[in-house]
Amino acid sequence: MASRCELCWAEEETSHHILLSCNFASQVWSKALSLFNEVWIGFPSLELLFSWWRKKAKVVLLADIWKALLIIICQQIWFERNKRRYDNQRSPPRQVVQRCINEISSCSIIKGVTIKSVNDLMLAKIFKVSKATPKLKRVIEVRWKPPPMGWWKLNIDGSSFGNPVMQVQGESLGTTRG
Ligand SMILES: [Zn+2]
Repeated sequence: MASRCELCWAEEETSHHILLSCNFASQVWSKALSLFNEVWIGFPSLELLFSWWRKKAKVVLLADIWKALLIIICQQIWFERNKRRYDNQRSPPRQVVQRCINEISSCSIIKGVTIKSVNDLMLAKIFKVSKATPKLKRVIEVRWKPPPMGWWKLNIDGSSFGNPVMQVQGESLGTTRG
């Protein structure tokens, strides 16, 4: 006889049920996805979940974390099932999600992520992932300055030399006044 699901005690335990259709697992997925502003819609098979996840990886915040999260959520739901069965320890969905976050935080493959928005920054903080330093172009501020006394200044369109390394706008034309 098949055993009952350790997570909800409502249904027969199968890998499909534990990872996808179990009410407990759904709560874990929902809470984890809400971090990425995504909604858990439920999936009839793991293949469809994986395929949806791959597509989302192109648009979600911090895709590296997103990709790692899929396997880590499955792993942590399974670990929770084992803790209940063998250690008689029960944790709520919120804590299982926190374990997923902790796993990502200690994940050596995600060293740094490129922050493109405030939401990225907040997510990186939740997962304690360091920010990658983006390669910034050197920006030199060029401001208009009045010429010294006795000189005229002629402003012309921007000119560049060593393009695109350095650009200057405006040139001085030295000539004495009067
Ligand atoms: Zn269940």
